[in-house]
Amino acid sequence: MGARHGNDVIEKLKTQPIELWHRGQRVADVTAEPGLSGGVRSLAELYDLQWRAPEAMLFASPDTGNLVGRSFMVPRTLDELQSVGTMMLRWARHTFGMMGRTPDYLNRALAAFAGSADFLGQLDPRFADNARRCHAHARENDLCLTHTLINPQSNRNAGPARQADPFLAARVKAETDAGLVIQGARMLATLPISDEIMVFPSTLLKATEEDAPYAFGFAISNATPGLKFLCRETVDYGRSVYDHPLGSRFEELDAVVIFDEVFVPWERVFLYRDVAACNQAYAATGAVAHMSHQVVCKNIAKTEFILGLVSLMISAIGIEGFQHIHEKTAEIWCTLEAMKAFKRAAEVDAAPNAYGVMTPAWDPLDAARNMYPRLYPRLVEIVQQVGASGLVSMPTLADVRGPLKDDIAHYYQAARAEARDRIPLFRLAWDTAVSAFGSRQVLYERFYFGDPVRMAGALFHGHDRQPYMDMVREFLQRGIASAAEAEEGSGQ
Ligand SMILES: Cc1cc2nc3c(=O)[nH]c(=O)nc-3n(C[C@H](O)[C@H](O)[C@H](O)COP(=O)(O)OP(=O)(O)OC[C@H]3O[C@@H](n4cnc5c(N)ncnc54)[C@H](O)[C@@H]3O)c2cc1C
Repeated sequence: MGARHGNDVIEKLKTQPIELWHRGQRVADVTAEPGLSGGVRSLAELYDLQWRAPEAMLFASPDTGNLVGRSFMVPRTLDELQSVGTMMLRWARHTFGMMGRTPDYLNRALAAFAGSADFLGQLDPRFADNARRCHAHARENDLCLTHTLINPQSNRNAGPARQADPFLAARVKAETDAGLVIQGARMLATLPISDEIMVFPSTLLKATEEDAPYAFGFAISNATPGLKFLCRETVDYGRSVYDHPLGSRFEELDAVVIFDEVFVPWERVFLYRDVAACNQAYAATGAVAHMSHQVVCKNIAKTEFILGLVSLMISAIGIEGFQHIHEKTAEIWCTLEAMKAFKRAAEVDAAPNAYGVMTPAWDPLDAARNMYPRLYPRLVEIVQQVGASGLVSMPTLADVRGPLKDDIAHYYQAARAEARDRIPLFRLAWDTAVSAFGSRQVLYERFYFGDPVRMAGALFHGHDRQPYMDMVREFLQRGIASAAEAEEGSGQ
């Protein structure tokens, strides 16, 4: 089949019987559901976009020769890796990075698992075959995946086996010749409006027998019987793109995933029971680096958007003369340049991993993933500081067209914008920094790649600071030596 168009995506979602619950009701058709359909449309647009620039967005499948999505590529050269980065940045720019989990995010994970499948094969040769087959299946059918890693937030002071019920967190209930039966829940899965779900090993398990039933990795169809997606309430207010420019387009949704005796055939399993392997899998296969490569592209697109938005606001209301406005704009600019530099460094310093997969350099991506959870909330704060009351005083389209339209045209004019241009601009700023959509984006960025506290801990323990300590120690030693020499000299 090869790369899909938007219509293919919509048709598949229409017919796939996913058990998706929203506001107390099972959703019959996600493509028509108020509050959900805008996100589906944007998702479909991404698939159309890949056909508008096929040379950049697609490549010839190594198996079939069909044109397939470039984010499924297992790169072997620097050029191939960079071409994936270019493709991902194009997709990210289409949604201004506001749909963080566009399909390329998990396509990169799947490609990494397949490319480094021999790591999985050390546990069981079937697991390596399964990862390669699942990747080829997703690539040839251009499937869209979501994923879920985290156990329910019940008692973080205890592991999954020590919760009030050991089946709160999804765990293996039975193992048969045909596969695994999973019972319990995981939170969260963003973009449940997708075809398949990767259920990755949950974050660091303890190497004990009691944690082994929680140690697994597999990918299954979202329409698998017993699999339920319980969505949070939509942040798309169901309004026009004029009133709600981001929320009406880019609602990707988040859902808690409930496994009610879900059967997972062995052919779909990548990892099982080996806690150490589950804990190492992202790093050993390079999946974490390839996913972070997508993340830094998203960060660039999002920061470019904020820079453009804030610059237009500054110009519209004539505040470009104030010094603190320069400082704030410089802050956004520096964030953007830092993200671009991290992407570039990760690509230029990429190297083949143990399995020959060209893998982006981890250090700059680790820096990016640790910094952005702090930087994005600050960028939104700047939008609020620059926009001030303008963020909450903008009329809706109904007002603009209503009985007060002449008043609105008069009183909403700005230094360099008529009311008709200024209102949509500040509504966009409101949707970025004030609306439910905007707040969810801030929360999302805070936790996008995990808990920032524990990510910082991983950075603390995972990077070699010895050369820098040696450098400073050597400098101190020189000072001590020269003081001793001076003392000796004065004593003579
Ligand atoms: C909008 C959004 C979308 C998401 N989408 C997805 C998705 O698609 N797929 C997915 O798998 N996950 C997703 N997540 C989940 C995300 O990975 C988690 O939010 C993140 O890993 C933090 O885990 P938690 O939310 O369970 O927080 P918790 O672990 O419950 O943490 C709560 C608080 O306790 C602190 N804390 C807890 N344990 C420790 C500890 N051991 N040491 C120090 N401090 C601790 C944390 O720092 C935090 O302040 C999403 C989250 C959000 C907010």
